[in-house]
Amino acid sequence: MIVMKFGGTSVGIPDHFAVATGLVAERAARDPIVVVSALVGITNLLVEFCRGGAGRADLARRFEARHREFASDIGVPADVLEPLLRAWQIESAAWLESPRVVSGADRDRVLSFGERLSVELFAGGLRARRVDAVALVAGDAGLVTDDRFGGAHPLPEADALLARHLGRRPPVPVVTGFLGRTADGRITTLGRGGSDYSAAVIGAALGAAEIQIWTDTSGMLSADPRIVAEARPVARLSFAEASELAYFGAKVLHPKTLIPAMDRGLAVRVLNTARPDEPGSLITRDAEAADSSWRVKSIACKKDVTAVTIVSTRMLLAHGFLARVFEVFGRHHIVVDLVTTSEVSISVTVDDPSHLDDAIADLQGIGEVEVKHGLAVVAVVGEGAPSHVGLAGHVFTLLGGVGIGVVMISQGASRVNLSFVVRLEDADRAVRLLHRGLGLDVDQPALAAGRRG
Ligand code: ASP
Ligand code: MG
Repeated sequence: MIVMKFGGTSVGIPDHFAVATGLVAERAARDPIVVVSALVGITNLLVEFCRGGAGRADLARRFEARHREFASDIGVPADVLEPLLRAWQIESAAWLESPRVVSGADRDRVLSFGERLSVELFAGGLRARRVDAVALVAGDAGLVTDDRFGGAHPLPEADALLARHLGRRPPVPVVTGFLGRTADGRITTLGRGGSDYSAAVIGAALGAAEIQIWTDTSGMLSADPRIVAEARPVARLSFAEASELAYFGAKVLHPKTLIPAMDRGLAVRVLNTARPDEPGSLITRDAEAADSSWRVKSIACKKDVTAVTIVSTRMLLAHGFLARVFEVFGRHHIVVDLVTTSEVSISVTVDDPSHLDDAIADLQGIGEVEVKHGLAVVAVVGEGAPSHVGLAGHVFTLLGGVGIGVVMISQGASRVNLSFVVRLEDADRAVRLLHRGLGLDVDQPALAAGRRG
């Protein structure tokens, strides 16, 4: 059995939709379970609807028109959508009379219409190809969650329920991504971009041979293509490397996706719906066959980072200093990325400065505080990178050679990335320089991803 997950651009553009349903049909012998997102742009539209304001009626109409037009573009009979569109009219009409923001359980139910309609379209598309398929809402398939609406977590019993509900195939199940259901039957969502995570949860529950994430890039890339034009897909990554890139903001994979796959050691493959013959990226426990085939995989970058330095007012680091500093960050729910310490000071970076002012007031009771905005973290990602002899020297020589100053360095704590902080205005240049300087722009023919999706 394999899981095939298709994102919003794969199901929301008629040409891609045709490719996607064709890919599933071709893989019928591999016993696919399909997971789909809402049509591209639809969840954003529904989020806007929930915010309220005068545009609600127009958004409600656009939502309906978009699905009707799409059904007609792809030749799926509109009547498969009728019951859901009627439910949408009733749901939306209730909110048109009220200026209230839609929140909590109501919001998750409103957002659910995107995925609930797209599974109907996709199952209809498969049936048009003579593939026996059935549309399923994840809750009906056993994906039970807690009741943290907007960011729900699957419950431990979800595994057994999913295995039971999805166990008998065909018909090919086409399951909503992004959605779950509480034990008392209310629809939940797993957080924006959560369809990847749904695919992984389902794949883990059923022991899939592979979880395929079909998207709009040919895998995880060696750099952000908006920064590096010659960025290329990375053929093989370890779970740790791929997680690092996902957390660094590569939009290709939802950061939580790899957790269920890691737990079970399942392979995850990232593939391009528009170019289905390309090998994509294969993510497994080990990135390379041998340690000797070590290499840097990607140069990641996180922008608009703030650095906070706290200098202990006593000359030497009194015991408990670090604990007090981290207690303050913890209490203000501030996620710290990079940390470096010296005898008398500690510097950390944070990428969300929203609660920082309160935290700084508290930190001032511990030491002298200095805050620097307008920075970026750059990470050289590759299993073993921090300990690879000569790499750090090479990286900083390259940067020094073009006059890029390094504000902070963190090396050694991570097995997979060597990260450092530069000024925001130097970030793109640093990424491009390292991408070329570390040889990521040349083909790596020896590292083919193996069997194709
Ligand atoms: N449709 C949802 C979103 O846009 C989930 C997903 O696409 O993964 O966030
Ligand atoms: Mg996505």
